[in-house]
Amino acid sequence: AGLDPDKVAIFVQSDNPDHAELHLIFSMLVTVPTLTRLPTYLEKKDRLDSYGFLGYPVLQAADICVYNADKVPVGKDQEKHIWLANDVAKRFNSLYGATLVEPQGLFTEIPLILGADARKMSKSYNNEIAIAMTEAETEKKLRTFYTDPKKLRKGDPGNPDGCPIYLLHRIYTPGAAESIAPPCRTGELGCVECKGRLTRNLNESLRPIRERRADWIRRPADVWNVLAHGGEKARARTKVVMEKVRDAMKINYRKTT
Ligand code: SF4
Repeated sequence: AGLDPDKVAIFVQSDNPDHAELHLIFSMLVTVPTLTRLPTYLEKKDRLDSYGFLGYPVLQAADICVYNADKVPVGKDQEKHIWLANDVAKRFNSLYGATLVEPQGLFTEIPLILGADARKMSKSYNNEIAIAMTEAETEKKLRTFYTDPKKLRKGDPGNPDGCPIYLLHRIYTPGAAESIAPPCRTGELGCVECKGRLTRNLNESLRPIRERRADWIRRPADVWNVLAHGGEKARARTKVVMEKVRDAMKINYRKTT
């Protein structure tokens, strides 16, 4: 609901088999220790031990390189995965000649958003503010957010650095550095009021996106059309890259000329 399908290709990844083909090629270029050192693997390895989990950063590298993307907008937690994509593309180019763009991460001023429990905001941690939430649900969830634990009541001096609420204020409250951080520090602003202000600003910013989402939900046939059209655009783009990849590796067996 936040992207214009006339400007970008929105598609289902599995609708384009080129991702899977490049993933297989890339899986020959990455060592197992490289993958087992990644923080995302270390964090969940006791619960997940399939190849799919170990190898998903390789698939991510293929997802990026199959479009020859140069800049990839990601959160800070994904930075090492972009380095991996860059390394694999470099390795491919050094083995088979300059073929793939070596991608770089593109970070915003606030590259990591924290969720209710002060870990990175993620659906898997159930600590997120979702676009699908109503305004009342957003308010209820924000009330559960971690704040500075030393600031127990209004009047206590607080520390906004590291507070997930303040991070969100920096995005959704214009001039938060002047209007939120100083009164938090002096104690003049209490956490309840601070969360209330954020709730208003966040809901206001998300309102048009939520309205567009509700509109799309009423038109499922149009959603499928967007995905089908996006898939066509994506496949047209990756076809060119994969031809170059197969040529470089001399495995373009289907090529007749
Ligand atoms: S006043 Fe706001 S910024 Fe300060 S600790 Fe409380 S919620 Fe965080």
